[in-house]
Amino acid sequence: MSLDTDYDNDNIFAKIIRGDMNCVKLYETDDILAFMDVFPQSEGHCLVIHKHAKATSLFDISPDDLSALAQAVQKVAKAVKEALAPDGVRIAQFNGAPAGQTVYHLHFHIIPVFEGKRLDDHARGGPAEAAALEPAAKKIRDKI
Ligand code: AMP
Repeated sequence: MSLDTDYDNDNIFAKIIRGDMNCVKLYETDDILAFMDVFPQSEGHCLVIHKHAKATSLFDISPDDLSALAQAVQKVAKAVKEALAPDGVRIAQFNGAPAGQTVYHLHFHIIPVFEGKRLDDHARGGPAEAAALEPAAKKIRDKI
């Protein structure tokens, strides 16, 4: 997928926004959705997306929508920090397959990092069950 790929209304995150696919939800407003990553690189790895901006990458979202998204990323990251007390928090965002992007709906990763604990590989392995993600999700939700 190139940086100029058109937005696909059937990408996984579009399905999650429409409710056609389940997710472990953390936070939702009219414009924003935050949910747990099903292939977590660490406990509490979550994603934040804009629900209406049909942007595949950072390059095709309006400044206003990006601003709303960035504010939500900060809000959820603060909750992750309070809920899980990580030693660091990585915020990641990939544009185009060569950069590591696998889902073509713009999103930001919030990845808690714990000293001495290696991050799992990006978007690899089997998906986690919702029940396995729920304990960290509940802690995060309680801090939002
Ligand atoms: P990227 O590679 O930056 O495009 O990230 C896409 C992320 O979406 C990866 O970290 C995947 O683990 C995650 N992911 C894929 N499918 C789902 C899903 N159904 N629910 C939650 N996260 C997902």
